[in-house]
Amino acid sequence: MKYAENILETIGNTPLVKINRLTKELPCLVLAKYETFNPGNSTKDRMAVKMIEDAEADGRLKPGGTIIEGTSGNTGMGLALAAIVKGYKCVFVISDKQSKEKMDILRAVGAEVVVCPTDVEPTDPRSYYSVSKRLAEETPNSWYVNQYDNPSNALAHYESTGPEIWEQTDGKITHFVVGVGTGGTISGVGKYLKEQNPDIKIWGIDTYGSVFKKYHETGVFDEKEIYPYVTEGIGEDILPKNVDFSIIDGFTKVTDKDAAIYTQRLAKEEGMFLGNSAGAAIKGVLQLKEHFTKEDVVVVLFHDHGSRYVAKMFNDDWMRKMGYKD
Ligand code: PMP
Repeated sequence: MKYAENILETIGNTPLVKINRLTKELPCLVLAKYETFNPGNSTKDRMAVKMIEDAEADGRLKPGGTIIEGTSGNTGMGLALAAIVKGYKCVFVISDKQSKEKMDILRAVGAEVVVCPTDVEPTDPRSYYSVSKRLAEETPNSWYVNQYDNPSNALAHYESTGPEIWEQTDGKITHFVVGVGTGGTISGVGKYLKEQNPDIKIWGIDTYGSVFKKYHETGVFDEKEIYPYVTEGIGEDILPKNVDFSIIDGFTKVTDKDAAIYTQRLAKEEGMFLGNSAGAAIKGVLQLKEHFTKEDVVVVLFHDHGSRYVAKMFNDDWMRKMGYKD
């Protein structure tokens, strides 16, 4: 008999899938690292388990403890699955711009969800950064995960996602493109790939309203870059420790409208029912056209599943309301 001992053992070893229609205008092969095959339907399962195991190992997380995190949903899902298997409680602090599906899904796997306003400064006591820190201080036997600055986040991708991509492409990968939020995915995968072949180019996808691209290009944290945006999962108004700018070759910014339209196009033209940051990522690949030649092998990582966006990017009334469709 071949079976996994528990659901956590099914994390990783996700497929690499060729994109056929959307990238026709590009000279190169474009392959998607298809992370929705993880049990929580996102790449975040990998780092969630790694962060928990590392915290168990050094005593930050103790038996019967409560896991507290500010999460936009996917990290919460991974943490919740691991918490169920390992016997912990979860409290997640989430911003009100996240889709209702994401909140319902977290509650479905037993987590308590606290909702905070998006459009306040990170230092405001109502912000989800501040609320999660306060809950962690007030809750006995709790552990505050802090995926933004927790090194186990990037390490999970260095140890699993990066080696998988290298092996699946027989070392032929020339470019890696991925959306950047906490930075864990790009930094972990990017570091591993550059150690195998320093010529591999690492590109981050950023949003309008986020600080990453300007900071990478100028070294200036420009508050004028910060304003509300719609795209979910990528871009930040802070500089997380997990973003290793030294291994990133460049950023390209994708508009909210393009990210939403390309999320629909991936589903309708490739049969890839994916989340909003996948739309941003594939549009970003197209924007980078001039960097690719016919010999190149481009890998783009798709973070999460379309089911979390049915009331938004997959709803044409919502798309019209936002002015993204006629
Ligand atoms: N896409 C989605 C849907 C996400 O939830 C996240 C995590 N915030 C990202 C992209 C960015 O990944 P990372 O945090 O590893 O930079």
